[in-house]
Amino acid sequence: MATRNTAKTTASSESVKQITYLAAALKAPRITEAAARLADQARDAGWTHEDYLAAVLEREVSARNASGARLRIRAAGFPGVKTLEDFDFDAQPAARQQLAALASGGFLVEARNVVLLGPPGTGKTHLATALGVAAARHGHRVLFATATDWVTRLTDAHRGGRLPQELTRLRRYGLIIVDEVGYLPIEQDAANLFFQLVSSRYEHASLILTSNLPFSGWGGVFGDQAVAAAMIDRIVHHADVLTLKGASYRLRGRGIDSLPSIRTTTGQTES
Ligand code: ADP
Ligand code: MG
Repeated sequence: MATRNTAKTTASSESVKQITYLAAALKAPRITEAAARLADQARDAGWTHEDYLAAVLEREVSARNASGARLRIRAAGFPGVKTLEDFDFDAQPAARQQLAALASGGFLVEARNVVLLGPPGTGKTHLATALGVAAARHGHRVLFATATDWVTRLTDAHRGGRLPQELTRLRRYGLIIVDEVGYLPIEQDAANLFFQLVSSRYEHASLILTSNLPFSGWGGVFGDQAVAAAMIDRIVHHADVLTLKGASYRLRGRGIDSLPSIRTTTGQTES
C-alpha cells in the first residue's frame, strides 16, 4: 500500500515537472498552479478528464482576459478609473436603462456612437470613462482624450505628413472617447482635422463624445457651421444621444444651487 502510494507520488511529481515545462513553453505559467490545485479537487469530486481539462484552461483564459482588460484600461489614458457601479443613477434616473444597454458593448460591434450632453458636473466624463472601461473589459482597445488633446495630436500628425497613417492606426481602436467638446473653441484648420477623424471612423468604429453644449452650439466651437453640420450628421446617424440634467454632482450638499450660465464670464461680478 505504502509502496503504491510512493510510486503514484513519484509519477505525479514527474507529471508536475512536465506540466511546468509545457505551460512555460505555451507561455501560460498559470496552468501549472491551476493544474496542481484543481487535480486534488478533481480527484475528490470525481471529475472526468474533460471536466478537469476544461477547468484548468478556463482559469488560464479568465486570467488572460482580466490582465488584458487591465492593460487596455491603463493604456486608454482615462483621467481616473470610474465605473457604472460607482454611478448614482438616482441623480440621472432617465439614463439608467440606456446606459445599462450600452455597457453590454453591443454599440461597439455595430460601430455606433454615444454622445453625452449636459451641464458641468452631471457625470459626462464619469459615464464616458465607465463605458470605456466596460469596452476594455469586453476586449476592445480604447483611447480617451479631451477634444483639445485630440486636436493637438491630429495637428502634430498633419504637420508631420502622417495624418492618413495616424487615422488608420486609430481605426484599430474600437473606441475613441472625445471629452469636453465645446469647452475651448477649435480653429478652422483643426476643425477640419477633427472632421477627418469623425469621417474615418464613420460606420467603422465607435466614438463617444461629451459636450456641455447642445448640437446647436457646435457651429460656434468649430468656427464653421458647415463643418459642424457635416460632422454632427455623421456622428448622430448611428448614435445614442443622452442628455444629462440637473445640478452639478460636484456641488451637492455645498449650498450652491447653480453654476453661472454658459455665457457668463467666470470671475465677473455684478458691479
Ligand atoms: P462632467 O464631465 O459632466 O462635468 P464628471 O463626470 O466629471 O462631470 O462628474 C464630476 C464628479 O462627480 C466626478 O468625480 C464624478 O465621478 C462625480 N459624479 C457625477 N455624477 C455622478 C453620479 N450620478 N454618481 C456618482 N458620481 C457622480
Ligand atoms: Mg467632464
